[in-house]
Amino acid sequence: MSHIPHLINGQRIAGTGRTADVFNPATGEVIHQVALADRATVQQAIDAAKTAFPAWRNTPPAKRAQIMFRFKQLLEQHEGAIAQLISQEHGKTLEDATGELKRGIENVEFACGAPQILKGEYNRNVGPNIDAWSDLQPIGVVAGITPFNFPAMVPLWMYPLAIVCGNCFILKPSERDPSSTLYIAELLIEAGLPKGVMSVVHGDKAAVDALIEAPEVKALSFVGSTPIAEYIYSEGTKRGKRVQALGGAKNHAVLMPDADLDNAVSALMGAAYGSCGERCMAISVAVCVGEQIADALVEKLVPQIQGLKIGAGTVCGLDMGPLVTAAARDKVKGYIDAGVAQGASLVVDGRDLVVAGHENGYFVGGTLFDKVTPEMSIYSDEIFGPVLCIVRVGSLEAAMQLINDHEYGNGTCIFTRDGEAARLFCDEIEVGMVGVNVPLPVPVSYHSFGGWKRSLFGDLHAYGPDGVRFYTRKKAITQRWPQRASHEAAQFAFPSNG
Ligand code: NAD
Repeated sequence: MSHIPHLINGQRIAGTGRTADVFNPATGEVIHQVALADRATVQQAIDAAKTAFPAWRNTPPAKRAQIMFRFKQLLEQHEGAIAQLISQEHGKTLEDATGELKRGIENVEFACGAPQILKGEYNRNVGPNIDAWSDLQPIGVVAGITPFNFPAMVPLWMYPLAIVCGNCFILKPSERDPSSTLYIAELLIEAGLPKGVMSVVHGDKAAVDALIEAPEVKALSFVGSTPIAEYIYSEGTKRGKRVQALGGAKNHAVLMPDADLDNAVSALMGAAYGSCGERCMAISVAVCVGEQIADALVEKLVPQIQGLKIGAGTVCGLDMGPLVTAAARDKVKGYIDAGVAQGASLVVDGRDLVVAGHENGYFVGGTLFDKVTPEMSIYSDEIFGPVLCIVRVGSLEAAMQLINDHEYGNGTCIFTRDGEAARLFCDEIEVGMVGVNVPLPVPVSYHSFGGWKRSLFGDLHAYGPDGVRFYTRKKAITQRWPQRASHEAAQFAFPSNG
């Protein structure tokens, strides 16, 4: 068992005091202990960031981008090792871990365009001999707090962009699977990032509170569950910080009667059961428009769910691994119990799955409920497990009403061959990310990611163009260089071109 240290000012710091166990979810064994930062350790990272900031903000964006180019190369070279680390602590399959890393690398590629994205805007002669421009300047010391379910990708949504914008960054990753996050941050130091520009402090609420309360930390990016997102948004904004807090989800897929059913079934299988349902964009509700498509869907899904290849994610060729912790497994089983008690029809039951050789792993098999109604907790709550619920409705309008009435609005999709239905859906649905025949519409790195309603607190979405706005402050400069020997008399009327 090894100890997972902090990374502060370019150095591994063991940390003193509290630690947390990190498990291999496929075996239930404790494999590491991670340091949990106290206030003094968080302050060390803040002090390092403050010291590094003046030189970093004045480093040309092109030089900052060169470090990101080297970082991208290192990430690609170490892809296999990173995927193993993710899989060992999170439980997702190696292929899925590689996929998350590749999507994270896309954000590094976007950050490599720093000179272009920080160009600002310029106007010559806005008045006589007067030029004006808008500059995008860094904020200073900023922090990110990330969830367990994407230990590589979600941090990469944040710090490459924050750093190329000229900020210094402190990352507080999830304490449940911190190894890959630390490994990746060390690659950034190896790529040539000056000490102090990026630090990693592991921890729990105590470390997060220290970041929220520190006056030097000017902005907070958070991704995680909705109650914690609300807490961080309210505590951060109360202290005058810029906060972007992405929360939980309940994502619906609408199946129209004319959908290409075989393709929709394949899409649903991946989107509902991939990563054991532990994705904020996972599809957890299939809304079938009409009884016929619902019956046909159930018939096609059942054998595929029963045929899912489930095991320790670190082996290639599987569909699904275990849930992340024993608590997560018990929570998911509790929801399945509640669904049965509340009268839903349990078509495939994953509660009793045992994986040979991994009897102590946190496995739950693929589960399918039919005839689910909105009052049931399996419908209203984010289960974050391999549980798909089918809700039957009579029309597209009823499907849209159902989705719009839900408290979350992260992602959704529609399967149809009808362009008119798809267009109406895109226009009227109250959800931040929408797919048409695309089950996981996670935007590419040059768009931005964000939900609506209680899936996001703050004005801007994450990464891409919104990320640049979040990690910079605009400054508008108006400059006059009078012609030699000219003299302007005092003007008491408000200056204008009129
Ligand atoms: P979580 O909210 O439990 O933890 C997220 C982060 O907050 C972790 O770093 C954790 O250490 C910290 N934290 C936990 N309790 C805290 C407290 N009381 N005070 C302050 N900080 C605290 O979330 P999780 O279980 O790691 O991740 C799963 C959740 O994240 C799901 O709800 C999922 O939908 C959501 N998520 C959302 C998105 C998105 O983009 N909207 C992306 C990924 C995950």
